Amino acid sequence: MEKFSERFSDRRLCRISGLFPVILICLLFVSLCGCSMQSDSSSSEKTPEESESATREVYAMDTYMTLTAYGASADDAVSEASRRLYELDAELSATDESSQIYALNNRLSDQVSGDAAAVLSASIRLSSLTEHCFDISVYPLVCAWGFPTREYRIPSGEEINSLLSHTGMEGISFDESTGTVTFADDQMMIDAGAIAKGYASDVVADIFRSHDITSGLISLGGNVCALGSKTDGSDWNVAIQDPSSPSDPNAYAGIVSCSDAFLITSGSYQRYFTEDGKRYCHIIDPSTGYPADNGLASVTVISSSGTEGDALSTALYVMGLERASEFWRNSTDLRFDAIFITEEGKIYVTEGIAGDFESSLAEPEVISRS
Ligand code: ADP
Ligand code: MG
Repeated sequence: MEKFSERFSDRRLCRISGLFPVILICLLFVSLCGCSMQSDSSSSEKTPEESESATREVYAMDTYMTLTAYGASADDAVSEASRRLYELDAELSATDESSQIYALNNRLSDQVSGDAAAVLSASIRLSSLTEHCFDISVYPLVCAWGFPTREYRIPSGEEINSLLSHTGMEGISFDESTGTVTFADDQMMIDAGAIAKGYASDVVADIFRSHDITSGLISLGGNVCALGSKTDGSDWNVAIQDPSSPSDPNAYAGIVSCSDAFLITSGSYQRYFTEDGKRYCHIIDPSTGYPADNGLASVTVISSSGTEGDALSTALYVMGLERASEFWRNSTDLRFDAIFITEEGKIYVTEGIAGDFESSLAEPEVISRS
């Protein structure tokens, strides 16, 4: 999850990242808070605009998050959002023994409610809308490859085939009226890792809006929500990480100008292991049981929903460039744009975002509707 996006304002750089190193957090802190945007710094040094802003750093969902709000209730907004993020982390984790997902996976309960129920419903819907490339039931395979524990291994073909028979969303029945979940067999398990941060970004955006925040930036480890526009009314500028230099905080592939948008990236540079020179990434192709490996280095989805954007970025990454382009062309239920960066450094953008994306690496090729 060493992915990140960045925001540039006119004179300062704000960096937003996933598992970025401590030094990067300091940079972020300096970038955001060095301009007196920190909520608890002395108000006497602030301009009127700055005194109505607040920034909070949160570590949740295995990643560093930064919340920035502008407006009279900015402090209340980021405080409430931080509390909710810790709650969501506890509720949606597959490894936290107190979570509803853990209880389901370990057959301690067959009930879900609240956020876990909302995420499960969204996951079922989005799996069917993404040709099952997004599939939270791949968790037994994610575990077999060692991603949750970071004890990486290459499972045998036999093991993968056997585990594949315990995956597939058709094996999950969810009765929304009672919250009861039934798995087709005893070995099925689910993992909301590919959608939880996107869902959380929707929750935080709603909290911000409920506090009348019309300008804010929410970065949940690379899942970015540019809420409203900047305080001067201009668009936010969100930079997309150059996947070929994941550890260089200054290496970005391009910048998206946007307002009221979620920008969510999935990529092979985020979490992976290498064996015999081959890279195995943490996104599993549900149809094969192997890590997706189709020449894409990253996919960024731009959407008006964090939940959909997160599921989509994972799904499009699994699909690969050609199938994902076709999927975008034919998609009527899901409205989004996307930026694809290949392992060779080529950039492709869907036409809806082409005019708002500038690349510093390569001239993007536009994917058009026809
Ligand atoms: P990140 O977690 O870095 O934001 P993603 O949103 O793409 O990246 O989610 C990847 C995580 O989701 C993996 O670590 C794994 O837990 C889980 N996962 C892997 N493959 C899939 C898939 N095809 N569908 C749904 N979840 C997946
Ligand atoms: Mg995702």
